Amino acid sequence: MTQTKSGTRAAALREAIEAARGEYLHDQTGTPEDEAYNQAVTDVVAAIGALLETEKRDERLLPTGYCWCGCGAETGIGSFFARGHDKTAEAALMKAEYGGTVPRLLAAHSYGPDRSVTDAAVRNGWVRCPIPGCKYVGAEASVRKHEAMPHKEK
Ligand SMILES: [Zn+2]
Ligand SMILES: [Zn+2]
Repeated sequence: MTQTKSGTRAAALREAIEAARGEYLHDQTGTPEDEAYNQAVTDVVAAIGALLETEKRDERLLPTGYCWCGCGAETGIGSFFARGHDKTAEAALMKAEYGGTVPRLLAAHSYGPDRSVTDAAVRNGWVRCPIPGCKYVGAEASVRKHEAMPHKEK
């Protein structure tokens, strides 16, 4: 497998994190200066870590010719899944990693009543229904469809 461009960048970011960690003062004298310095190093590591998360998300995935649900079936050119197996894989991931429950899935990614997952989706391309008082949110096409339906006046 050839390394993607973003994969190379992710490796560079990982190296940067290691380098920053190397700067950390281990024989601390406990002075405020040392503590401030270590805090700065920690902040840098956190910032690079956040970049790394974005890189991982944007990394381009390529179909391999075999179903990504892991069933071993060969897939058509350009397909990740045998027909319908994307849904199987999604449900299996939910069960394997989150006990099959959406609240666990959300909590594992720090979402919930206090940190809105739909707000995060909007930041990544979802849109809100423009009709005042309506809270509907979704992918552009589904909001357009929804918008055309009658809305109660508020
Ligand atoms: Zn499969
Ligand atoms: Zn609406």
